[in-house]
Amino acid sequence: MPIKRLHSGGIIANYKCPASCGHCMYGCSPEATPGYISEEMAERLCKALRRLGQPSLHIGGGEPFLDADGLAMLVKVMKNNGFQLDYIETNAAWITNSKEQNQRVLEKVMRAGRNICVMVSADPFHIAYIPFWKTETLIRLLDETGTSSFIWQERYLSLLAKLDARRTYSGDELRQELGYDAYLQCAKEYGMGFNGRALNLLREYGKKQPAESFLEERPCSSLLNTGHFHVDFLGRYVPSGCTGMGILVEDLERELDPGLYPTLSRLFSKGLRSLWQYASLKGFMPDPCGYASKCDLCYSIRKHLAMTYGNDHPDLSPVEFYLQDF
Ligand code: SF4
Repeated sequence: MPIKRLHSGGIIANYKCPASCGHCMYGCSPEATPGYISEEMAERLCKALRRLGQPSLHIGGGEPFLDADGLAMLVKVMKNNGFQLDYIETNAAWITNSKEQNQRVLEKVMRAGRNICVMVSADPFHIAYIPFWKTETLIRLLDETGTSSFIWQERYLSLLAKLDARRTYSGDELRQELGYDAYLQCAKEYGMGFNGRALNLLREYGKKQPAESFLEERPCSSLLNTGHFHVDFLGRYVPSGCTGMGILVEDLERELDPGLYPTLSRLFSKGLRSLWQYASLKGFMPDPCGYASKCDLCYSIRKHLAMTYGNDHPDLSPVEFYLQDF
């Protein structure tokens, strides 16, 4: 399994986020793992990713703008290590009523690099936590300051603009206001991988099947995909779509040690069936009602291992991922 080359990815600066969006695969929320990337860790990640040929990166979270000094530091470290910064993600939670304050935060980060692009999140899931006036204010500020930006996703702006900009909307309130299930439509349009908190969507909208129907004996293609990977501020490589587990970046080029990676070494070598067999010996009992997907089953097995034998499974990271209710 050694990973010799990476393609397209980003750095997770933090997992904390004022929002707990229903589609978040990383389980970011106010209850998520505390902390922000340190300068030492930023250097460590950049050196490892450089070795693996990665030329550019984006910055995501959590909400990276929650620590403007930390974000400016990360931008500088990436620049000094020769990375092109693709964009910085933000949900505008940090926007206040003070234009001066908003400008100060933005300038601090923009000064750290050159031609930085900002990606503003706007969709039916974010509106449950971020009132639209914040999103609009940020978009205006980026325009006025000539900051390069794009909206993810722009097509939702006209829909969100129909709502009361000063308040947030739960999924039910949105359904009442719009007359259709915007969560379901958005989830379909995103065509997203369902993991982390997004598993709840799949469980709500999908059909359950017996656990045995998901037991493949080969590693999942998502796990092997080195496109759209992330590395987090805890020093771990998170495979694309397979959240709640990770490989220390220094170990990427080696065979995984089963002692240090009891979960991932099984998933990488013989797939979900191997993890299932291992967890069964450790008391895992499948839900007789079945699972909405193989990732739903995988998460359930990992949650059992993390909650009952957490110390023996350091690759189940971050720990707080498994303490949340999804
Ligand atoms: S089943 Fe597990 S290893 Fe496979 S794609 Fe889903 S989370 Fe990743």
